Amino acid sequence: YIEHVAMRLDGEDVDLQVEGSIAKYFATEAGDAAANDAIQAFGGYGYTREYEVEKIKRDVKILTIYEGTSEIQLSIISLFRMRETVRSKGGYYEGMAAELRDIPVDCGGDVLAEALRVTNSLVIGVRKAKLAKSQYTMFLLGDMITWCEVAHSLCLKAAGDQASSGRSVEFLRASARLFAREAAEKVYVNALKVIHGSDSGSPIDVPELTQLDPGRIMHGMFSDMHLIAYELRR
Ligand SMILES: Cc1cc2nc3c(=O)[nH]c(=O)nc-3n(C[C@H](O)[C@H](O)[C@H](O)COP(=O)(O)OP(=O)(O)OC[C@H]3O[C@@H](n4cnc5c(N)ncnc54)[C@H](O)[C@@H]3O)c2cc1C
Repeated sequence: YIEHVAMRLDGEDVDLQVEGSIAKYFATEAGDAAANDAIQAFGGYGYTREYEVEKIKRDVKILTIYEGTSEIQLSIISLFRMRETVRSKGGYYEGMAAELRDIPVDCGGDVLAEALRVTNSLVIGVRKAKLAKSQYTMFLLGDMITWCEVAHSLCLKAAGDQASSGRSVEFLRASARLFAREAAEKVYVNALKVIHGSDSGSPIDVPELTQLDPGRIMHGMFSDMHLIAYELRR
């Protein structure tokens, strides 16, 4: 995602402030989670000073705090994408979903397109139900928007037929499928929380959510994980 946004910045694109927030939020939280997993993988040694992963965890944590905390990034992402969705009458995420129609079928685009349509409808529904003042609701939206937009970049990258960053095309496509599933899972759960958990007077109608069948989305997940693990071990 960062490469994708950097290339847009090097080109003619302007006004990429929200993309900056998405990149900062996603990369720093991913780094923090990876450092945490590294401690766990080392077991007791991971917790001690000797093996350095505990230092990496301490050092990486500050990245989610300075230069705009994760919560501030989520506020920016959800508010500005809501404005864009309303301004474009839903065209912003419809356009993103449409781009995925033209890529090879094994890049996770079909799953992600469904997740993007749910996101679109939910963002519009939240605004109509006047829930934009609920910070927790906006954080849930910001989170799913981030996952969807990062997954969108990865699907497009995997659609290229060239190995990249030392990884095979199969690896990139399996990663894109896995990440599209994760984005769809996040969209599904966050949408349920907003629709059923909010005490908004007016119901939020998201008909696209019934299309997002979690069982179907998870199909093939373990073989993709095996493929990725196999290439990482080589
Ligand atoms: C090692 C280090 C180096 C730093 N270097 C610099 C520097 O070079 N230049 C500089 O200017 N600053 C620097 N800072 C300060 C840094 O930018 C702030 O710590 C950071 O912006 C968070 O502000 P705060 O500490 O006041 O926390 P707070 O603003 O009090 O935040 C505490 C928590 O509340 C949340 N929160 C705050 N406001 C809201 C809101 N409106 N809605 C929802 N949640 C909210 C935050 O997300 C956070 O989780 C540095 C800090 C550290 C620790």
